[in-house]
Amino acid sequence: MDLRTFIRDIPDFPEKGIIFRDITPLLKDKGAFKHAIDMLAEKLSEIDFDLIVAPEARGFIFGGALSYKLNKGFIPVRKPGKLPYEVISEKYTLEYGEAELQMHVDSINKGQKVIIFDDVLATGGTAKALKKLVEKAGGELVAMSFLIELSYLNPRNILKDENIISLIIL
Ligand code: AMP
Repeated sequence: MDLRTFIRDIPDFPEKGIIFRDITPLLKDKGAFKHAIDMLAEKLSEIDFDLIVAPEARGFIFGGALSYKLNKGFIPVRKPGKLPYEVISEKYTLEYGEAELQMHVDSINKGQKVIIFDDVLATGGTAKALKKLVEKAGGELVAMSFLIELSYLNPRNILKDENIISLIIL
């Protein structure tokens, strides 16, 4: 199954010049969604880790399914003002604009091994911010995983020395 056929390109969204990779066609197809989760789970099953850390909103869809399938804990990372307990924060630059992410201060026990998951790796700014949150919280980042990597934006340049596992490279 070629998962690329389930990704819809939306030009100039949310801003002119951005090709938005819409994963909703993949999500609504039970075979494609299952295949994506199974393939990602197979790749991640080779890694020794405790937790998946994923940002809202699309990171939750895959991060939650992968945590269940691999029998790991799940840590939600959210936009400011959403988490009810004490948080740690990280500001970062997105492919389109500025943003901030937060995680509960007690999400990760010291030394726990963490994999970051998100739907799309674009410039790598989000992934870098997630790594900083994980490390501030005392976790050890062992890998970063993505459904789609936009290699033409060269995200690996700012993520040197990271173990990056992407299913679809565009
Ligand atoms: P970045 O920080 O530039 O790597 O951007 C990654 C985050 O922004 C992910 O959470 C994506 O969901 C979203 N994103 C950035 N660019 C795109 C794109 N071209 N298509 C879909 N999502 C994107």
